[in-house]
Amino acid sequence: MPRPAPPRNTVSPQRPYRRAAARSLFARLREILATSSWSLAELTRLIAVEMRVDVCSIYVVRPGEILELVASHGLRPESIGATRLRIGEGIVGIVAASGETMNLADAHQHPDFAPRPSTGEEQFAAMLAVPIRRAGQTLGVIALQDRAARRFAPIEGEAVSTLAMLLAETLAGLGAVQSASRSLGDALPRRYAGHPLAPGIVRGTALPLGRNVRPLRVLADDPVAEGTRLDRAVVEAEASLNDLIAETLTTGEASREILEAYRAIAQSGGWLERVRAAISEGLSAEAAVDQVGAALRSRMRRLADPYLRERLADIEDMIERMLVALGAGLGKPDRAEGMVLIARRLGPAELLDWHRRGIVGVAIEEASASGHAAILARALELPALAVEAGAFEATREGDDVLLDAELGTFVLRPDRELAAAYERALAVRNDRISELAAYRDRPAETRDGTRLSLMLNVGLALELDQLERTGSEGIGLYRTEITALASGRQSGIAEQAAEYRQVVERAGGRRVIFRTLDLGADKMLRGESDDVVENPAMGWRSLRVGLDRPAVLRRQLRALLTGTAGYPLSVMFPMVATVAEFRAARDLLEAEAGRTVPGPTSIEVGAMLEVPALLFQLPGLLAEADFISVGTNDLMQFLFAADRGAPRLAGRYDVLSAPVLELLEGLAAACAEEDVGFSVCGEAAGQPLDALAFAAIGVRTLSMSGASILPVKAALASVDLNELRPVLRELRRAGAAGISLREPLAAWAREHDLPI
Ligand code: PEP
Ligand code: MG
Repeated sequence: MPRPAPPRNTVSPQRPYRRAAARSLFARLREILATSSWSLAELTRLIAVEMRVDVCSIYVVRPGEILELVASHGLRPESIGATRLRIGEGIVGIVAASGETMNLADAHQHPDFAPRPSTGEEQFAAMLAVPIRRAGQTLGVIALQDRAARRFAPIEGEAVSTLAMLLAETLAGLGAVQSASRSLGDALPRRYAGHPLAPGIVRGTALPLGRNVRPLRVLADDPVAEGTRLDRAVVEAEASLNDLIAETLTTGEASREILEAYRAIAQSGGWLERVRAAISEGLSAEAAVDQVGAALRSRMRRLADPYLRERLADIEDMIERMLVALGAGLGKPDRAEGMVLIARRLGPAELLDWHRRGIVGVAIEEASASGHAAILARALELPALAVEAGAFEATREGDDVLLDAELGTFVLRPDRELAAAYERALAVRNDRISELAAYRDRPAETRDGTRLSLMLNVGLALELDQLERTGSEGIGLYRTEITALASGRQSGIAEQAAEYRQVVERAGGRRVIFRTLDLGADKMLRGESDDVVENPAMGWRSLRVGLDRPAVLRRQLRALLTGTAGYPLSVMFPMVATVAEFRAARDLLEAEAGRTVPGPTSIEVGAMLEVPALLFQLPGLLAEADFISVGTNDLMQFLFAADRGAPRLAGRYDVLSAPVLELLEGLAAACAEEDVGFSVCGEAAGQPLDALAFAAIGVRTLSMSGASILPVKAALASVDLNELRPVLRELRRAGAAGISLREPLAAWAREHDLPI
């Protein structure tokens, strides 16, 4: 159907909207809302006139996931009350579904623009649609439209966000919206997928974080008084954080370090300045904090860098504390035993706070395994799941929930059958944990008597207690960059040396392989790089940075040498692409070793094999390296040109395939011949089935995360490699085209009762 073309990019003849205008609009709104006779129609008219736009409309959510146009200045009057759209339909529907503002210079260009002719909106090009949200739920949408194509200015966006906040409180107060909380779906079970962050299965009562908020006072008439309240709240929020940090002495040094790092992040960034600006426009201190927090959230959510996105949780944490201090948050119940916390984002301080109150598990919508909350959850042994979006919105306080951080599912309001199935899974898991515990003090040995060495991959001193808990033989990969990432900066030599000392002391004579900083790609420090590069994994990262900035690498090497004085030192360089690079790095280490007294009792130097080119320089490498460790995570991504972080490619190429097994077998044999140490330390090493295959082709040292050690030991203990080898040989021959051998190998393992 032909549609009238909107005027394009015409310059609005109106004067631009300014802060003073926002102040006057809010003052007028305060006056109107103080009377008892105001209407939504009056509000939309006032907003359109004061903001000098052609259209202002308000849509509210009705039961059945429907949005209804309830008031408008500028759209046809007959469409009011008669226009309904589904959540997710058209621009307004998308805004309601995502909870995110959309600012479109020309809505007609958007593939989802679905104008309703009855409203007459096809004549308007520019559109700013802002969700009306309260306590984590979308109640409706406020939309501004203009005839001329133009992007709405940030100050207009901020003003409409304030209006949305005001409407949320007003509508909730009036009971004018029947929010999703009353919809039918609330009684039904729902299942959400997720990625385990910290293992475990729990059943409990849902506690959605930040759902119960007091009514928010949005506008205030005395900005000076509000500024003073803000100052007081900052002091109070900081004090609550200090208390928390002081009380966490018992949870270990490293968790305190994480919190200290988090505090620095939460208090930085100038966001408080923006809060002050919003107060000067007439907002209450709590509304200003809430609004600036929402803007920050939406900006950071769009960041590609997972580390930076993770920092969002830290700021969120601070915002929560401030809202509580301003009397806008409800504070926390003293006890939360048996509860499963569900949050959109969660900072480490909040997690610790809730842990102390007794929660049994946590599901977070926006979290990554390398985030502070995840690291802490693992250290606290609290089952944690990064759950898919939508789970938080659908959760009601008090719902029965199942959190499976083994398979990665979150079930809301499970029916009896499902709950029973989970109870069984839980019982099986508990039995399995007790069975596995028996392997702790046994060596890793196959049924035919082949001995393997199982080592740990760790990145924080906090994780070192896993050495005892798992009975592993040492640390095969100490990721030194994790401390730098957790604190957001690289520490000085003395601080690094103290960390390394703590590690070797805790290892108590067991071998520890320190990998030098592997920063870059997805592990970027703040301010390290503002360049947006297309392929960061193949960019300036890791040892490349170290060799280009030898001072940084030398500082770390010096810290390693002094920190491990009196102990043997093993150093491993990541992302080595040429023998010349390895030699250059080793020369730096030797130069530093020559001037470090006292130093380690012995030094061995290894290379990570992650870059395929190194496979073709083996004789040179084996002549110079003391050991080699295969990082299958990176090697696989470079070997198959398949981004390790791309979910669509996950599982497409398999370590358990003929070409990769051939490569690893050849490597293991070449290293054995030259008496060079050989290990596999990527994620695959910790998968029982993969570990069996590696053992069968001659790999004798595997390094993996703590949770994998006992399951891998158990799998090894039940296999006879003499039986497995011919099966594997046959599968490799049949799968020579590169297809995965995982399924048939797993089938064989199951047939032989191997615990994979
Ligand atoms: C690997 O690449 O397999 C590896 C162990 O290193 P990281 O996962 O830290 O890149
Ligand atoms: Mg790697």
